Amino acid sequence: MNIHEFQAKELLAKYGVAVPKGAVADTSIDAEAVAKELGGTVVVKAQIHAGGRGKGGGVKVARNPAEARDFAAQILGMQLVTHQTGPEGQRVKRILVEAASRIKKELYLGFVVDRASGKVAVMASTEGGMDIEKVAAETPERILTEIVDPVMGLMPYQARKLAFGIGIPAELTTKFGLIVAGVYKAFVENDCSLVEINPLVLTEEGKLIALDAKMNFDGNALFRHKQIQELRDFDEEDPAEVEASKYGISYIALDGNIGCMVNGAGLAMATLDMIKISGGSPANFLDVGGGANTETVTNAFRLILSDSKVKGILVNIFGGIMKCDVIAQGVVTAAQSLGLAVPLVVRMEGTNVDLGREILAKSGLNIINAADIREAAEQIVAAIAPSA
Ligand code: ADP
Ligand code: MG
Repeated sequence: MNIHEFQAKELLAKYGVAVPKGAVADTSIDAEAVAKELGGTVVVKAQIHAGGRGKGGGVKVARNPAEARDFAAQILGMQLVTHQTGPEGQRVKRILVEAASRIKKELYLGFVVDRASGKVAVMASTEGGMDIEKVAAETPERILTEIVDPVMGLMPYQARKLAFGIGIPAELTTKFGLIVAGVYKAFVENDCSLVEINPLVLTEEGKLIALDAKMNFDGNALFRHKQIQELRDFDEEDPAEVEASKYGISYIALDGNIGCMVNGAGLAMATLDMIKISGGSPANFLDVGGGANTETVTNAFRLILSDSKVKGILVNIFGGIMKCDVIAQGVVTAAQSLGLAVPLVVRMEGTNVDLGREILAKSGLNIINAADIREAAEQIVAAIAPSA
């Protein structure tokens, strides 16, 4: 789960990370009031769950409250497109108005769960600011990494090593160490999967301040963090994915046009691969889970059909604990109640498969049966191909 910059800054501030003074506004009048209260130059920042806002026109420096109001009016309601939003962009509903820092140097500080070591990796770089992805791709040696032993915790020498490595002035080494230790504590205590401060700036006044903050949380650990759950902003998530999570369905929207309904994440991934290999393109990843019933299948079907890109559907079910006849009944009920205007290929195998096939055959629906996963993928690709 993602949260907004202003929320991440509030959280990190509790762990001793210095952040600019500021407040959130959802109207330009409020933005002006915040700017007045802060005095001096302020920065008006779009609050969306995506980085790259600066380059997309979502971060503006205002010299006075009137200018802050004008920038707020421009940014609020805009469809902000960044390299992380996709071409359709994300609508800005809130802005953060905060005191502008006098930046001497923009640094990078990031924390992730490193898959290779299975531990938290702390990364620091002198190349902070808006192009860290480019640095990682082209000059990875400019990003220093320390792996934290989960039992020992972050050791002071590790923070010092990073501080020396990125040229933190000697008098700020302790301060930098406290920031790194604070973020590490926040990371572990809140079950984060990523925390990124980009940029962490060194100001003309000789202070270290987090000017941006991004925090991601492990969804599987959210149940034990009520206060983090409350920060969830459903407006920033795909509505179909939110809907799916209510029914216990794992659903991820993709770009293609073949809707997929599969049980089990592994089989779902194999199905997507097979569609690709057969020259098609999946519209979604959908795992109905092990305990699916007719209702789950109907909901899954509705989700697939609500995507206007879907030109055909592939159902690939392995009946284990879940029986094929239950799935078949679900498919028939859903198709009859929702209407089925696109080709449907069903591949079923496992418990009660004969019963399941019978239900499909008797339904009178135009269903294409497939014997195995490859055939199923080929058939759905052929079924939606424009006829020559
Ligand atoms: P994003 O990463 O989404 O582009 P940032 O919050 O990192 O958004 O802002 C982009 C850039 O704007 C920063 O790299 C920094 O140069 C500048 N900036 C952001 N906040 C402030 C601030 N409070 N004072 C001065 N400059 C800022
Ligand atoms: Mg940033």
